[in-house]
Amino acid sequence: MITKNIGEFLVSYGLITVDQLRDCQQHMVQDGVSLQTCLITKKMATAEAIARAYAAYASLDYVGIITDKMADLDMLAKVPLKFLRDNVVIPISIDGRLVILTADPMKFQPLDEVNLLLGGEARYAVSSAVIIMEAINRYYPIEGTKQMIEELEGQEQEAGVAFEEIEEKDILSMATEAPIIKLVNNILFKAAKRGASDIHIEPFEKEIRVRYRIDGIMYDVMTPPKRAQGALISRLKIMANLNIAEKRMPQDGRIQIKVADKTIDLRVSILPVSWGERVVMRLLDRTRSVAKIDQIGLSDRDYAVLIKNIERPNGIIYVTGPTGSGKTTTLYSVLVELNSPEVNIITVEDPIEYQVAGIGQVQVREKVGLTFAIALRSILRQDPDVVMIGETRDPETAQIAIQAALTGHLVLSTLHTNSAPAAITRLIDMSIEPFLIASSVVLVVAQRLVRKLCGDCKKSYSPPVDLFARLGLDAQKASDISFYKAGGCEKCLNTGYLGRLPIFELMEVTEGIVRLAMERADTARITRQAIADGMSPLIEDGVRKIRMGLTTIEEVLSVATIEHGMLEQD
Ligand SMILES: [Zn+2]
Repeated sequence: MITKNIGEFLVSYGLITVDQLRDCQQHMVQDGVSLQTCLITKKMATAEAIARAYAAYASLDYVGIITDKMADLDMLAKVPLKFLRDNVVIPISIDGRLVILTADPMKFQPLDEVNLLLGGEARYAVSSAVIIMEAINRYYPIEGTKQMIEELEGQEQEAGVAFEEIEEKDILSMATEAPIIKLVNNILFKAAKRGASDIHIEPFEKEIRVRYRIDGIMYDVMTPPKRAQGALISRLKIMANLNIAEKRMPQDGRIQIKVADKTIDLRVSILPVSWGERVVMRLLDRTRSVAKIDQIGLSDRDYAVLIKNIERPNGIIYVTGPTGSGKTTTLYSVLVELNSPEVNIITVEDPIEYQVAGIGQVQVREKVGLTFAIALRSILRQDPDVVMIGETRDPETAQIAIQAALTGHLVLSTLHTNSAPAAITRLIDMSIEPFLIASSVVLVVAQRLVRKLCGDCKKSYSPPVDLFARLGLDAQKASDISFYKAGGCEKCLNTGYLGRLPIFELMEVTEGIVRLAMERADTARITRQAIADGMSPLIEDGVRKIRMGLTTIEEVLSVATIEHGMLEQD
């Protein structure tokens, strides 16, 4: 039973003198601080001694250290971080029992609230505010990073140095080690958890901006203080095995991280810019599985066309589209379809985005002279049945691909063009003879990615009629479609979208297309011919997916339009 107030108790406990208590009481009235704060700021006792005395006063155990073993991350995640920090409490686990630590055992309410939240079985104990705050900072599985940034600033003040000054030295041994490592880990792990494809860290005059690309859209994630820039970049360079002293030349490296049971490779590219160095990291999840070809969303006609052409013993199939349109993913689906012990498949890629068992994959390394063209020549000596060339960037690669196709190989590759018909004109622009194109290319697939509506919050609506014309629909055709627009819920982080799906157009190289290639016809004429021969343009596949309730008009129009050549009057 508590008889004395805490001040009198501390005196009788021998922690402080009566004079010190009076001194503090005055201070408490004047400045509105707590007794504990006063004792600490006036250095009347150590934090540990105070915590022990408080524990004795409240007849609770004192806990002097929080080890990794005591940290229960799942339990921690159930209590809001702000609550823990504001009240200086933390739930831990000691020998399998839930214990809630506080620095102020006179305040029972926060303890009871946490206890209630975690099932009501907890024991209470006392520790110092420093130990509790450090444990919260160390173990709380944070989404937000504001706290971390505050902590960074706090550490900087304690260490008495600015980050910029220490970056050249061994940052791993500096006082700033923990918060910077934690900040970097948080940037990387959060990106992986959210399924980001890229992380951008950009220096500006007064701040650093960290952004993620998720489902093709850039999101601002945080703006660490400018002072952290040097240490942050140095930490990333160390992780990527780069030279931390080199700041005027671009550098490329790799980082591998493990998130849950996934291994994620990060390709790190560092480029000097006006306010420092800009870092772009691409995340590659090598363990993700490749979608089967009948699951990538092809229409029945397009699926039949693709299957027919990949079963050919030779010829070239191009997948085209801008960067980030999912071309490589589609090629992998094809490779997985073709993959069997009797078929010899070799790829040459930069980077290797998926690892597929049973397929020989060669990584291009331009730096040491292993270009696409050189890798390809040696691969062809290995007598493959199917060759996948990550990207046709130059005429030389295009030439070798054609030779390979003409000598009995099925060649798969990507090209940067806006439409399937434009692939023909692009190859002609690369000085490839039209008769070589006509005799080797069998199919061109163009594709884009559109964001997929979140099934939990999508909303049915009637779009403005003028949009129908842009989709190539008349009011009659549009009347039987249920249109949806994006909503926003917790599951989709209020974006209304969850993941992406491709839209396609597949152009077979028919006799008509061959004839136009030989005439060096323009893209519009080739497009007209392709449509006449059965090609369903990108926008039509987009409308098909709008009709299926998978995506929105806005998404489709942002990547596909009615192109020159699609309409009769062109
Ligand atoms: Zn949603």
